[in-house]
Amino acid sequence: MKKYLKDIAGVTLDLLFPPFCCGCKTTGTLLCERCFQHIEFLTSDVELPQTSHLSLIRAVAEYEYPVRQLLFSLKYSHVRAVGTVIGRLMYHCSVIPECDVITSVPMHPKKQDARGYNQAEIIAASIATKAHIPYKTLLTKIKATTAQASIHHRGERADNALGVYAVIEEKKADIAGKRVLVIDDVCTTGATLDECARVLKEAGAGSVSGFVCAHEG
Ligand SMILES: [Zn+2]
Repeated sequence: MKKYLKDIAGVTLDLLFPPFCCGCKTTGTLLCERCFQHIEFLTSDVELPQTSHLSLIRAVAEYEYPVRQLLFSLKYSHVRAVGTVIGRLMYHCSVIPECDVITSVPMHPKKQDARGYNQAEIIAASIATKAHIPYKTLLTKIKATTAQASIHHRGERADNALGVYAVIEEKKADIAGKRVLVIDDVCTTGATLDECARVLKEAGAGSVSGFVCAHEG
C-alpha cells in the first residue's frame, strides 16, 4: 500500500486544477489513502469457461467504490492522469500475469478520435513502463459495437464481440509464439478479452492472458 501511495504522488494532472480524489472529492491526490483502504482486492482469478481462448483473466478489484469512481473518471472526465494511477494501482496491488508483450483492448478509431485517447492503452502503457515489459499496439477494432455495458444478456455480449477485433497485419511477426497480455479497464463476462485472445492466437500468439482493473460480477 505504501508503495502505491508513494508512487502516485508523482502523477501529475494534465489539468491546471489541484488533483482531487475520484472516490470522495478530497483535494490532494486522485485516490486518497482513506478511499484506497476501502478497495476490495481480489485474491483469485476470474472463472473462465472451458471454451475460453485465454489462459487466465486477473482482476485487481471488484467494480465497486472507489474503483468504480476511479474508472468512471477515466472514461468520462478526460483525465489521462487517472489512467496512470490505475496502472500503478494494478502494478503494485496485484501480480502481473507472466508475459512477453503487453497490449490493450482497442477502441474503434472514430471513437478514439472523439475521446482523444484509449483509456485501456494508457493503463497498459503505464503498467508496461513499470514492469519493463514492451508495450505494443497489436489489435485494431474493425467493427463498431454497442457498448458492452448497455447489453445485459450474457449471450448477446459474446455475439456482440465476435469478429470485432483484428491483429494489425505488420504486428503479426511480433507475436509468434509469444505470451501476450491484454489489458482493459473492466471485465464483465470476459467476451471482449476472449475475442482478443482468439484473434491473437489465430495470428500465432503462444498464449494470451487478460489483466483488468475491475471485475463486474
Ligand atoms: Zn478519497
